[in-house]
Parts: sequence; structure tokens; C-alpha cells
Amino acid sequence: MARIVIVGCGVVGAAIAYELSRQPQHTITVLERQQPAQGATGAALGIAMGVISHKVKGRNWRLREASLRRYATLLPELAALTGKPVPHNSQGILSLCFDEAMLPRWRSLQAIRQRQGWSLEIWTPDAVAAACPHLRLDQVMAGIYSPQDLQIAPQALTQALIEAAQSQGAELHTEAAVVGFERQGDRLLAVKTAVQDYPADWVMITAGLGSEGLAAELGQNLPLMPVLGQGLRVKMPEPLGNADFQPVINGDDVHLVPLGDRLYGVAATVEFPPEGERSPLPEAAALDTLWQAAIAYCPALATGAIVSTWYGLRPRPQGQAAPVIQPIAGWRNALLATGHYRNGVLLAPATAQQVDQLLQTLSDGPNSN
Ligand SMILES: Cc1cc2nc3c(=O)[nH]c(=O)nc-3n(C[C@H](O)[C@H](O)[C@H](O)COP(=O)(O)OP(=O)(O)OC[C@H]3O[C@@H](n4cnc5c(N)ncnc54)[C@H](O)[C@@H]3O)c2cc1C
Repeated sequence: MARIVIVGCGVVGAAIAYELSRQPQHTITVLERQQPAQGATGAALGIAMGVISHKVKGRNWRLREASLRRYATLLPELAALTGKPVPHNSQGILSLCFDEAMLPRWRSLQAIRQRQGWSLEIWTPDAVAAACPHLRLDQVMAGIYSPQDLQIAPQALTQALIEAAQSQGAELHTEAAVVGFERQGDRLLAVKTAVQDYPADWVMITAGLGSEGLAAELGQNLPLMPVLGQGLRVKMPEPLGNADFQPVINGDDVHLVPLGDRLYGVAATVEFPPEGERSPLPEAAALDTLWQAAIAYCPALATGAIVSTWYGLRPRPQGQAAPVIQPIAGWRNALLATGHYRNGVLLAPATAQQVDQLLQTLSDGPNSN
């Protein structure tokens, strides 16, 4: 029996809690300083850009592909365990190509995806117009349609993951900020909050931007840059375009995400902070630029009412690739699963699988617990 303490209940911590809770030999405790999904996860729209991404090999593609495959089984599993479906859009992602010079690259990606067993379609502007009559296409050279990519509501997903984990014996403690660790030699013995110590055989740090400070506490340098993203929600008088075909639209990295009931999300800006700034604030001009870019390819948006705006901070690793999934140097029983930057919702299921494998490998190793 291994006591596993997970620090942070964003989508990554919740996915790990769920995956590990499926194995009865583990006792899982999740410590969250606020409530679940209040960090970066709460600001995401949950677009899972797998097949349509330009990553075709190596670790980044393997994680994306593993996540897409896992989502196909995970979403029904969660619905069965919690009794309610996780809202998601499986009508794919349509990316507008404005640059003719990009077309050979898309064709090459299409061929690669076909060999990999995934589908990617290249539509003429006329085909895009037929499927999505709400889009302005005079600058559009083609539409790249990825039917197997999806969009998942991140807060509902996180809630479902943690509820399903709890139904399998995991414990969640909210308002429980981790402030340190009890150690002996190269082992962590317990995770400390201000009010309680939680004994641990394994510690997983999945605290998003908070992971930097916790890693530093354990002597590991893990610089994470907070990259700000803003978005807005728009209520339309009627559904945009064809009510039966509502994919996520991507125009030059400005996403239009159908959220149901005539509500649409427009997201997200990518704003790098000034050097050393840990808590950057949103700038109205950047949000306005995003809004104007969305209206440029979907003019009907201008007739909608902006019902809310929001922003969040993405954890971007500095000096190493996202995400960071690895043991913490110098400690036998501590792992990091963090720094997912722009793709934490997409990569959470594969991250959980990788953590599970890492745990098995380390538990079987010569220095195992
Ligand atoms: C505007 C925006 C749009 C995005 N869009 C997408 C998208 O479309 N698709 C996609 O895949 N990704 C998207 N992302 C990225 C995605 O949101 C992140 O990669 C992902 O949410 C990271 O999840 P996490 O669980 O690692 O971190 P978080 O969600 O930040 O969770 C970390 C948790 O740890 C807790 N915590 C921190 N310190 C402590 C402590 N000391 N003790 C206890 N708890 C602690 C925090 O309270 C928090 O709840 C977007 C991000 C933003 C900001």
C-alpha cells in the first residue's frame, strides 16, 4: 500500500488522482490551497489540439496522441462513475489558413497524419463556406479540418476527475495550502499544511505556477513564467452558422469556441510578462485586439453581447520543454508533473499515465520505497 500525496487540484493533479485511484494498492490524498480548478485550469477553454498541431514526432506528439486516445475512454468512464457527462465538443477543430505559403506544410502534415492513422482534411474556401456560412473567407486560402480533435470543459472535467477519484477512495482537502515537507535523508516523510501533516510514501507536485516555490523548497530549480491569457464570452441572438455543425474555429490563434445555448468563448491572448513579474495583470488593449481579430473572421460576433471577460496565467517552463514530468533531483519519492503551459487540458490524461509508469518504474528500482 503506497500513500500518495498530490499537491494541487488543477486538471493535472485531478487526472493523476483519478488514474492512480483506479489501483486499489494506492491511498490517494489531494491537497488544494483553494478549490479545484481555480488556477490556470479555470481560465482555459479546453481546446485539445492534437492531430491539428504541427508536432509529428518525439515526446510532445507522443503525449498528445496518448491523451487523445485516452480521452476516448476517459470521458465515458467519468460519465459512468459520476452519473453526468463532462461537457465536450467532438465536432472537431477547423483552422483557417490565410497564408498560401502554408498550404504545402498542411499537405505534408495531412500525409503524416494519414500514415499515423489520424484524419486531417483540407477544405477549399467553398467547402468552408458551405459548412460554416458565418465565417468571412475573402482572405482564406483553405480550411484545415481535424475531426478527431476535441474541446472539453476544463472545470467540469477537473470536478469529474476528482469526484471519480473520491468514489474510488481518494481524499480531497481544500483550503489546504502546502507550506513544506518533513524529510529524512533523501526521503520525504510527510507534506505539511499550516494545520496538519500528511504522511507520504510518494509526493507529487502538480501545483501549476505554485510548483516553482515548492520545488525550490526541495532544492530544485524550476523557473516557471506566468504567461497571461485573456478571453471573453459572447451571447449571440442565434447560433452562429449551421446549428448542427459547431466545431471550434481557429483563425490565426484566435479561437471561437461554442459553449452551447448561443454562448461562445473567444480566446486567448498570449501575453509575456515583463522580466521578473510574477503576477502580471491583463491589458484592455490586448483583449480588444483579440476581439477585433475574431470579428474580422466572424463578423456576426459584433451583433452579440459580451457577457464576461476573464484571464489566467499559464505555467511556462523556462529552459526546458513543457510539460515537466520527472522525479525531483535528490529525493527518492518526489515527482513533478507541471509546467503544461498552453496544453494542460489536452495533456492531462497522458501526464497521468506517464506519472503512473514513472511510479511503477521507480517503485521497482534498486532504490525503491
Ligand atoms: C487563458 C488560458 C487558456 C488556456 N487554454 C487552454 C486550452 O484551450 N487547452 C489546453 O489544453 N490548455 C489551455 N490552457 C493551459 C491550461 O489551462 C494549463 O496548462 C493547465 O490548466 C495547467 O493545469 P495544472 O493542474 O498544472 O495547473 P493549475 O490549473 O494552475 O492548478 C494548480 C493548482 O495547484 C494549487 N496550488 C498551488 N500551490 C499550492 C500549494 N502550495 N498547496 C496546495 N495547492 C496549491 C492551485 O491553487 C491550483 O488549483 C489555457 C490557459 C489559460 C490561462
